[in-house]
Amino acid sequence: MLDILNESIENLVSSIQSGSLKSVDLVDFYIDRINKFKEYNAVIEIFDDARDLALEMDKKIANGFKGKLAGIPIIIKDNILYENHKASCASKMLENFVSPFNATVVDKLLKEGAIILGRANMDEFAMGSSTETSFYGKTLNALDKSRVPGGSSGGSAVAVALNLCPVALGTDTGGSVRQPASFNGIIGLKPSYGRVSRYGIVAYGSSLDQVGVLAKNTDDTKLIFNIISGHSENDMTSIKNEVKDSLDSVIENLKIGVPVEIKEMIKGMPCENAFYTLIDQLKNLNCEIVDVSLPNIKLVLPTYYIIATAEATSNLARFDGVKYTYRSKDSKSLEEVYLKSRSEGFGEEVKRRIMLGNYVLSSGYYDAYYKKAKSLQNELKNEFKSALKNVDLILLPTTKGEAYKLGEKTNPIDSYREDIFTVSANITSLPAISVPYMKGEHNMPFGMQFIANYFEENKLFKISEIVEKLAKN
Ligand code: GLN
Repeated sequence: MLDILNESIENLVSSIQSGSLKSVDLVDFYIDRINKFKEYNAVIEIFDDARDLALEMDKKIANGFKGKLAGIPIIIKDNILYENHKASCASKMLENFVSPFNATVVDKLLKEGAIILGRANMDEFAMGSSTETSFYGKTLNALDKSRVPGGSSGGSAVAVALNLCPVALGTDTGGSVRQPASFNGIIGLKPSYGRVSRYGIVAYGSSLDQVGVLAKNTDDTKLIFNIISGHSENDMTSIKNEVKDSLDSVIENLKIGVPVEIKEMIKGMPCENAFYTLIDQLKNLNCEIVDVSLPNIKLVLPTYYIIATAEATSNLARFDGVKYTYRSKDSKSLEEVYLKSRSEGFGEEVKRRIMLGNYVLSSGYYDAYYKKAKSLQNELKNEFKSALKNVDLILLPTTKGEAYKLGEKTNPIDSYREDIFTVSANITSLPAISVPYMKGEHNMPFGMQFIANYFEENKLFKISEIVEKLAKN
C-alpha cells in the first residue's frame, strides 16, 4: 500500500501512470486534508474544477498520456496567474480578479500533467515575513498554531508542511520562500534570477522577484525546479542560454565559504550553535570550509528595502480603481476613484511600502537613497562574485532561529529585520536554498541556507541532500 504522505512525487507519478493510483483519489485525499486543517488558513480557495480535471487526467493517462507530474495536485501562491481562476495577492484590491491567462510556470506544470488544486494564503502583495498581513486573515504555523508560519509564502509552506499537497509554488523577492520553509521545517528554493520566467506573476520588486519551490525533500524540489525553469518569450529577463552545469553532475568535496561578517552578526542568536555544528559536521564529511569576506553585507537590509519599495511603488501604480481592481463605491470624480479605491483597497503594510518607495524615488531624495542603494547593490554583487570565485557555496543561516509568536512583531522595522539573512540572494540575483537542519528551544525547526554562483543550482541540490541526511541523524 502506497504511503501517500511519505512518497516522493516521482513515486506517486509512477503509481498513477501504472494505474494503481488515480489522480482523482489523490485530489480527494488532499481536499479532505485541506478541509480538516482549515483553521490554519493556509489555502484561500480550493479550485472548483480540480476534481473534474483530475478525472479527465485519469482518462488521458489511461489513453497513454505521460508527464513528469501526471495527476499530481499542486498549490500555487495567490500571486501566480492561472487562467479563469482568481488570483488576489491576498488583497481586497484584487479580491474579484480572475486571470485571463496562465503564468508561464503554470503552463509548464500543466504540460507535465499537474492539477492546480488551489491558491495559497500570503502576505498582501508578497510584502511581509509572517503571513499576518493577508486580507483573508493570518495563516498559522504548521507545527505550532501560536506561531507565525513566516512569509510572504506562508500559505504555500504550511500547505506542504501539513501535507495539504505534495508540493507548492511560492515567490521570493527577499526571502519569501526560504524563510517560511525554515519556520515550517521544509525545503525552500529560490532559483537564480532569470532562471524561471516571471510572466504571469504579479510583480512586487521586478528585479528581485523569482518563483520558488516549497517541498519536503531535495528530489521533489529538483523535479519541480527542472520543470518550471527555462527561457520564455514573454519574459525578457529569463535566460536564453542553456546552463553550462548539468543538474545531474556530481560535485565531490564541496568548498564552502563562511562569511566572517556573518560570524559576528550571529553572536548570541538562537541559530549560532546550529551554524557551528553544521560547519563541524560538513568538515567531517570532507567539505572544505574556508572564511570569506563580504564587508557590505551589514548594509544589505536597507539596500533591499530601498530597492524593493521603489520597484513596488511603480508596480502597484496600475491598481487604480479604474481597470481590474476594487473600486470605491462613493467616489464622485476620477481623482476620488484613485484616492478612495487605493486607500480602501490596500492594507496598511502595502500603503507603507508605497509611501516609502515614493519617498526614496522623489527628486529631493533620489540621490541620497535610491542611487546609493543601487551602488551598494553593485558593491555587494562584486563581493559575492569574488567570494564565489574561490568557493562552491556560501553558508548563512536562513533565519535568526525558530518561528516567533503571532502578533509579536508589530513594529514593521522588527519584521524587516527578520529578513537579514535572506535578502542577499535577491540583491545579488544568486540562487539559494534553505534546508531544515535543527530544532530550537521551543522544539521548532529552522533551516540553514546556502548560496551558489549564478545558475549553479546543481550545487544547491547536492548540499541539500547532504544536510537532509545530517538533519535526519
Ligand atoms: N519580507 C520581505 C519583504 O517584505 C520579502 C518578501 C518577499 O520575498 N516577497 O519585502
